[in-house]
Amino acid sequence: AKQRGKAGFVRYEPGMEQPVLAHIQLGGEIRRGLDEGEFRVVYQPVVLLETGKVIGVEALVRWEHPTRGTVPPIEFIPAAERTGLIVELGRFVLRETCRQTAAWLAEFGPDALQKPGVNVSARQLHDPGFVADVLAALADSGLSTDRLVLELTESAVLRGSQISRTLHELDRHGVKLALDDFGTGESSLSLLRAFPAAIIKLDKSFVDGIEIDDANPAARDARQAVARAVIQLAGALGLDTVAEGIENEAQVEQLRALGYTLGQGYHLARPMNAGNFTALLASQRDA
Ligand code: C2E
Ligand code: CA
Ligand code: CA
Ligand code: CA
Repeated sequence: AKQRGKAGFVRYEPGMEQPVLAHIQLGGEIRRGLDEGEFRVVYQPVVLLETGKVIGVEALVRWEHPTRGTVPPIEFIPAAERTGLIVELGRFVLRETCRQTAAWLAEFGPDALQKPGVNVSARQLHDPGFVADVLAALADSGLSTDRLVLELTESAVLRGSQISRTLHELDRHGVKLALDDFGTGESSLSLLRAFPAAIIKLDKSFVDGIEIDDANPAARDARQAVARAVIQLAGALGLDTVAEGIENEAQVEQLRALGYTLGQGYHLARPMNAGNFTALLASQRDA
């Protein structure tokens, strides 16, 4: 159920609609946090399943709140979306990620890292300045436009023809689009036709339990069937795939057996600050 957090926040629980008032109060706090520079970006490696080599990265936002400590996105993204502050917050994440990626490429070379993934909400796609913001973030950092992936969920993409125009415009500039949490929505397949996606991210829910042989074989078989269907579909359409939420080695083996080459998850690497990611790239270079 709903609880009051330390600083009087209403904790968000998945599946629960936050009251409008709570969003407005939290919106004021987010506004203050933006002005005070309390948001930062952490980076989760995307890894080659065969070798464990880090070849990519997803940017994830965190809030270093003065009294609550590190606040995860699920506790403030819904309010940021509802109040429209996600536009400014998203612009910060985008700019910071482009700047940091350009620095990594300058230090470790153009092949050290593929395109970083940045999460984008529907509300941002509706903002008339969105394409200009993305192109400015790229230009100001010196990254070329084919050096960025925007990660979108089905619910973000399905809303309206304006969004479709925006996505096609970004595609024409070479910005890559990834379908996040793939397979969890109701119309993942028809979406692939309408939307210039380059990457499919297999949702964690299909990776969970994919390796268990005895406990619930029917559920496991269903997950494997989805994972197999997704990779076949991606192959047929010429899309790349990333399996999300990998938590153990048995899942790595099972996904590799199904043909997955790229993965993300706590077992491979947790989200980390930029300094630790730099150290990871350095150790990989020196290996
Ligand atoms: P997502 O885009 O699906 O990101 C993956 C989430 O799964 C991240 O949670 C990541 O830390 C977590 N994760 C990665 N590997 C594992 C694993 O092995 N096990 C488990 N249990 N979790 C794993 P995080 O950082 O809390 O972000 C949650 C969601 O918040 C993201 O889901 C994304 O939808 C949203 N989000 C995060 N950053 C941003 C942002 O900058 N902008 C927007 N619009 N949304 C964001
Ligand atoms: Ca994502
Ligand atoms: Ca995801
Ligand atoms: Ca998600």
